[in-house]
Amino acid sequence: MPTVAAAPMSYKDARRLLGKMTGPAVPIEWQGGLPFTYRLGPTSDKLHLVIQNDKKVRSIWNVVGRLRGAERADEWVILGNHRDAWVFGGVDPSSGSATLMETARAFGELKRSGWKPRRTIIFASWDAEEFTLTGSTEWGELEAERLQAGALAYLNVDSSASGNSFTAAAVPALANFLRDVARDVPDPSGGSIYDAWLSQTKDAKEPTVTTRLGSGSDYTVFLNFLGLPIADLTFDGPYGVYHSIYDSFTWVDRVGDPGYYYHAAMGRYWAVAALQLSECDYVPLDYAAYAREVESYLDETETAARRLGVEVDFSRARDAAKVWDKNGRTALEVARKAVEAGDTARVERVHRGLMKVERALLDPEGLAGRPWFKHLIYAPRPTYKPLVLPALTEAIEARDPARVKLEVERLTRALKRAASVIDGL
Ligand SMILES: [Zn+2]
Repeated sequence: MPTVAAAPMSYKDARRLLGKMTGPAVPIEWQGGLPFTYRLGPTSDKLHLVIQNDKKVRSIWNVVGRLRGAERADEWVILGNHRDAWVFGGVDPSSGSATLMETARAFGELKRSGWKPRRTIIFASWDAEEFTLTGSTEWGELEAERLQAGALAYLNVDSSASGNSFTAAAVPALANFLRDVARDVPDPSGGSIYDAWLSQTKDAKEPTVTTRLGSGSDYTVFLNFLGLPIADLTFDGPYGVYHSIYDSFTWVDRVGDPGYYYHAAMGRYWAVAALQLSECDYVPLDYAAYAREVESYLDETETAARRLGVEVDFSRARDAAKVWDKNGRTALEVARKAVEAGDTARVERVHRGLMKVERALLDPEGLAGRPWFKHLIYAPRPTYKPLVLPALTEAIEARDPARVKLEVERLTRALKRAASVIDGL
């Protein structure tokens, strides 16, 4: 349990307290929206804060529905959303929960019509996300073996709609897939989600997928502990009521998504993504894109190290990333040709290989001081902000040359593993 008391309060109360502070001005990023300079203190007044917590043990429930795959029941595509809210949870999470229910209902109708998915599709409604991602984490740990053996991807929708801007975060391997899905799904503004998404992207040839993954929702266990490809999807907008008592049905109904068009659009998008993964010949993961992304992280990490006066040599890690890039590109070409030629054994080999790559980026020892986080490309900072090449970056920030050397070695080994599971297919 956290030992620092935290009490949400209204701006009226906060103003009375903050306004009495004296002393130096706060760092610029701490300055909030009240019309005076925030100060660090002290103050001559004393505040008596009474916090009432009950310490009852409560049960939480994950609700997990399975649509069993007709051909490959052990291969899973997982759709997940949390159900618990801080207060009323109009957008976060109930917009996503409504979309999950509707998506499950649509698949139920398909099933009643006689259709069966090739792979198993799982619909998960997590509990206690707001409380340290508890529900999804427990389930991920419980199902670790089956997930690592057979999961293609975890597709998270926390809030489905607080506005009309389609926003996708994902591992780099899924970015192209997410753009392709967007071409197939209509946007409520007319055209496809891809068109609407592209029109919000400044100076870009293609819509931007956020690939720097921190934390803040239920994908964490799947990425950082299990090494599965993950995506996190939302229609975003001006959403000042986040996590407050004003995030209510009324807000969603009048402001967030009047008419519920974007709730429905997310349901279509999510369902098409799930269908494409459940029916595909081979999982469409692009590791050339991932490798190039990691190369750019190496560049920026090297610059950061130099700024801190830390010696680094990334030449072997760069070499490993280059091989990974080449193998990633080759794997998709080989798979495409093998599908055309009807060479099912070869398609299967590539598919199996591609499923192992994200797992190969885990190191069983995990990150220094937090061994549960095993992914060597992504981790959250304690704030949830993304940290790329986390073990290496933390070693550099600690200015510990021996640790830096060890982390470069661990990272290089992970990149080599990632390249080798898709080598010679
Ligand atoms: Zn949420």
